[in-house]
Formats: sequence, C-alpha cells, structure tokens
Amino acid sequence: MKQYLKTIFALTMSATMLFAAVGCSSQEPTSDPASDEQQEATSGEVLTMATNAEFPPYEFYEAGDVVGIDVEIAGAIAETMGKTLKVEDMAFDSIIPALSAGKADIGAAGMTVTEDRKASVDFTDTYVKASQVIIIKADNTEIVGPDDVEGKTIGVQLGTTGDIYASDVTDNVERYNKGFEAVQALAQGKIDAVIIDDQVAKALAADNADVKVLDTPFTEEEYAIAVKKDNTELVEQINAALAELKESGKLQEIVDKYISAE
Ligand code: GLN
Repeated sequence: MKQYLKTIFALTMSATMLFAAVGCSSQEPTSDPASDEQQEATSGEVLTMATNAEFPPYEFYEAGDVVGIDVEIAGAIAETMGKTLKVEDMAFDSIIPALSAGKADIGAAGMTVTEDRKASVDFTDTYVKASQVIIIKADNTEIVGPDDVEGKTIGVQLGTTGDIYASDVTDNVERYNKGFEAVQALAQGKIDAVIIDDQVAKALAADNADVKVLDTPFTEEEYAIAVKKDNTELVEQINAALAELKESGKLQEIVDKYISAE
C-alpha cells in the first residue's frame, strides 16, 4: 500500500513538474494558444530564440532583460537576416521541444552538440569551444580531479551534458533547474560537487567564496545553435551569418565583452 501511494505521489510530482516546465516556457503569458505572439514567432520578420536565461555569461537577466553572448550573437544573426530578435526564456529541457513544435526558430543556450540531440534537432556550425568542469567546496582537499568524483553526490542542471556525464560516474545525481541552485546546495554541504559548463562555473563561483572550480576539465565540447529538424534553409542562413561574424571579428568581440582573457 505504501509503495502504491509512493508511486501515485511520484506520478503526481512528475505531472506537476512537467506542468511547471511548460508553464514557465514563455516570458510573457499567452492566454490564447493562437495569439498574435505565437503567430509572430513564426512570421517572417521575427527570429524567435529559445533559451534558458540562467546561464551567465551566455544568457542571464540584467535589469529585467535577457542579455549575454548568445543573445548578442543571435541578435547579430537576426540583423543579417533582416529580422528582429525575440527572446523566449524557458527551462533548458523545454528548448528542443519548443523548436520541434515550431514555437521558436532557434535554440541558443550554450547548447552542446551531441549525437543524441542530433536525433531531435539540427545544429549550425559551432561558435564556441567549452568544457564541463567540476566545482567543489573551497576547503575540499579530497576531490582534486575528474577521477575523484566517481560515486560522489554530484549536482547538475537538469537535462544538460553535465547531467549526462555525472550520471556516467555516479548513481547519486542531484538535478536542479538552475546551475545557481546546484552551487548553493554545494556551498551548504548538501552535495559533494557540481558538474557544469566552464564559463558558467567561473561566473557562479565568482559570486560564492565557499566554492572553487577545479582546473582539469571533465570533458571538452562545442556549442552550436539548434533549429527544428530538417530546416536546412535556416541552418544555411545561420551558418552564412556565423561565418561573416567570425570573419569580421564581431563574434570574438562579443565573446570578449563578456569573458575576459586569462
Ligand atoms: N552546455 C550544456 C548542454 O548543452 C549546458 C547548457 C545550458 O545549461 N544552458 O547541455
């Protein structure tokens, strides 16, 4: 009987979480599914970017606006295409479903290219090299490199590559909606380590004296923009714009604005 109740509880919880994820999938509330806003998302003049604005320095809130490297790159791409950029903030694991459903044109969210994701979306050329790194408590002397997190309790952001890699090395993965929450749990001693993208780790650790980032990366990866599967035309348009941005030095300029050289 207890087991039965547990199952019901678990089912109710996942339904609630799913609802919550869908519920927060738009920055502005949409009352009617066929509202102007949604039609606008697929109209010619607007390029709608799905992102998760919990990912500094790539996308985060500043004075109520979503800003960051991805926002500026997407803005420059939209400009090349003669369109206006519109940013939709949602849970990271809602981005691919939003693209598939045609609710957004591009996913720009520090999204790592993976074979699994290629089954659901198409990726443009890559625009940034990144890595997954380990954050530990500042006074931790036991974990010094990637081998030491095996079997440990690792915090990740739900549905990210950090989540996938952590799940490879331990059964104890704590999944958070925001990387910030994982770092908070670490600082409070609730978990042993966090696996997350390098620049985000630096940004989060800079705000928290109780934690530090290990030098040795866990994995190397690359970010690209995702679009709905088989939208070859859009991929080509974005690749052309990206090539131009790389060539002109504008892309590096955007990155340098948010990431100081080491
Ligand atoms: N780069 C990671 C991934 O693609 C995390 C991205 C994110 O959280 N915005 O899974």
